[in-house]
Amino acid sequence: MATQHIVSPGGGAGVKLARGAHIRLIDIEGGQTGDLMAFSLDGRERLSNGRSFDYNGKLLLSTGDVLWSDLSNPMLTIVADDVGRHDFLYASCSIEMYRMQYGVTGYHANCSDNLRAALRELGIEPDSVPTTAFNFFMNVEVQPDGRLKILPPKCRKGDSMVLRAEMDLAIAVTACPAGTCNDGPPRSLAFEVG
Ligand SMILES: [Zn+2]
Repeated sequence: MATQHIVSPGGGAGVKLARGAHIRLIDIEGGQTGDLMAFSLDGRERLSNGRSFDYNGKLLLSTGDVLWSDLSNPMLTIVADDVGRHDFLYASCSIEMYRMQYGVTGYHANCSDNLRAALRELGIEPDSVPTTAFNFFMNVEVQPDGRLKILPPKCRKGDSMVLRAEMDLAIAVTACPAGTCNDGPPRSLAFEVG
């Protein structure tokens, strides 16, 4: 039985994932989205939404699709997916985003800081973390006029997705604190590695 790691509401956590190992991302409470960032364990390659769109030929990724690195190597393959709807367009929420779009004046928990902190513990230089993570369970629609619309996530309590590592990886996972992309207040997520 794999050990379950809890990501607290608005928090983040990091883990190393050996090639061939799996990570299961679990919505343990329902309606909660998160960010996943991956680096090669040596820090040379980073998850790339652009390369992933290019090689999959689509914006919406699910079972059977591969998440690619900026150096065009496969990083993770989605091998199971209860939800089937994720976003790879939006940048991770940041302190600047909360200031500009929500008028927050003090500190606000955010996925950018949480991803950087989790990756720092795994030896990845925080300044090299890209702005766009894989926003699992986040439901975004591209409107006919090109505008983006954030819809309530389709994930329900107990839903999960499983990704297989295609190289040795450093992975960071957050439970996003933003009010717009979750169905209700920020909740916990969990992940299992095995
Ligand atoms: Zn976020």
